[in-house]
Amino acid sequence: MEQWEGKSEFKECVHEYAAKMKIQVKSLALRPMTTKWASCSTDGNLNFNASLLAIDKELGKYVIVHELLHFNVPNHGKLWKSLMKAYLGDYEKMELKLKEIVLSEKLSSSSGRDRKYSEKKTDTLKHSRVGRTFQ
Ligand SMILES: [Zn+2]
Repeated sequence: MEQWEGKSEFKECVHEYAAKMKIQVKSLALRPMTTKWASCSTDGNLNFNASLLAIDKELGKYVIVHELLHFNVPNHGKLWKSLMKAYLGDYEKMELKLKEIVLSEKLSSSSGRDRKYSEKKTDTLKHSRVGRTFQ
């Protein structure tokens, strides 16, 4: 498994993808979070869970692209999926790995283990957006 060298490498990666997607990032921070991997607001504020630095780099990239795509695509529909594939390739594998970490380690919830993943009802990533809600 490949790991991030540090916060600055992670942030650089965020800016790289943001540039590719022509997204204006206003503020970007890595901080400890207990319940989610990332959060973002449509006006360009991004927060990432500092725990991402401790896990596989690929998974961090998944979270980065996942969040950034939400600037333009508010759901996990067909468009979002095809963009995920375009940027990351086999993103579903990463999604599963990340999900395992969510369920088995620090972000675990007691009911989480038995819950089956349902794309329609839950967001695997456990992220939230500020200032806008999605159905
Ligand atoms: Zn999402």
